[in-house]
Amino acid sequence: MSTRPLLMIPGPIEIEAGVQVAMARGSLSHLDPEFMQAFSRVLTRSRDVFGAPTGQPFVIAGSGTLAMEMAAANLVERGDAALVIDTGFFGDRMARILERHGATVTRVGGVLGAASSIDEVSAALASSGATIVTITHVDTSTGVLAPVREYAALARERGALVIVDGVCSVGGEDLRMDEWGVDLALTASQKALGAPPGLAVLVAGPRAMEKWRARKTPVGAFYVDFGEWLPVMEAYEHGRVAYFGTPPVQLIAALDASLASLVAEGMDTRCDRHRRIAHAFRSAWTALELQMLPINESVTAHTLSAVYYPQGVDAALVARVREHGVVIAGGLHPAARTKYFRVGHMGSTGLPEILTTVGAVERALAASGWSAAMSGRGVAAAEKAW
Ligand code: PMP
Repeated sequence: MSTRPLLMIPGPIEIEAGVQVAMARGSLSHLDPEFMQAFSRVLTRSRDVFGAPTGQPFVIAGSGTLAMEMAAANLVERGDAALVIDTGFFGDRMARILERHGATVTRVGGVLGAASSIDEVSAALASSGATIVTITHVDTSTGVLAPVREYAALARERGALVIVDGVCSVGGEDLRMDEWGVDLALTASQKALGAPPGLAVLVAGPRAMEKWRARKTPVGAFYVDFGEWLPVMEAYEHGRVAYFGTPPVQLIAALDASLASLVAEGMDTRCDRHRRIAHAFRSAWTALELQMLPINESVTAHTLSAVYYPQGVDAALVARVREHGVVIAGGLHPAARTKYFRVGHMGSTGLPEILTTVGAVERALAASGWSAAMSGRGVAAAEKAW
């Protein structure tokens, strides 16, 4: 029996055996035809996963924050007005990155657990004159799911470019870049894509590429310049090789294996499964008389749960759950960091992981004196809902 605890934080996540095997292979040259084919598949399949048949994928070594920086560095020019729809910690990060690249940033939202209404976003768009709008699809600090489709439609009406931080959504939540009018979306390998950390994955639609091509000033950072990477991505996708920076060959092989699994499952089926998983967890939290951080179901993510500690229980719960074999995460949002915990439920999660996790949380809560957790009703509720 494995002594490694079950990893149920919102990224990195448990990875499938096939992905681990791909990762463990010896090094291939980045000029090797086998690597070229793997990279080509990764790029082509990224379009499917992002719902972006007209998009240009970029896959480079780095974490999700690098993908955010790549978006800002290429699309922002000094003085551009940007509107950040803030649903948590990562909206704040996006605002700071945009500012670093010269944007004048207005924020809307920022209410813990809530997503701005359409009227609020509409008013903020009008008053800010924003030409760039950013949305965090799922803010991992709050577990809030933003209505990307509705926000994007509003932004598009005003001709603004729409950037989506999909680090905690792509591969687990429904995202249709082309259909919804999203101009750029980004993620990282370690969450719902089901690969190890280390890759920034970004897809830029035609309007984003146009904005980059029409820049009056050079991109202010060498490593993330679309101009340096575009020839590399185009070459690999079309069966040639090109060099700018050494690609992380093992990570690309791992992502190739995980994207194969995503595509085999089918994005619709996969998103449905994530909804079912979230529903099972939500049923357990309700049965245990716990309150979730998102203020209602329509803004609750399907890739993670953010749950308040009940009366008399504190952040020591996380370590107690670990003693029962499951790793969960504490809070992250500065306004409530010590008041809630988070459980990631992405990737290949199914009933065994759900029951193990709920069981561990339930036992740890019971040991902390929370009486609603004494009867095994969380596990029963999760199983029934599933
Ligand atoms: N955006 C969101 C929504 C995230 O959840 C994260 C990571 N938790 C990031 C951006 C930053 O990604 P990374 O930690 O890989 O830099």
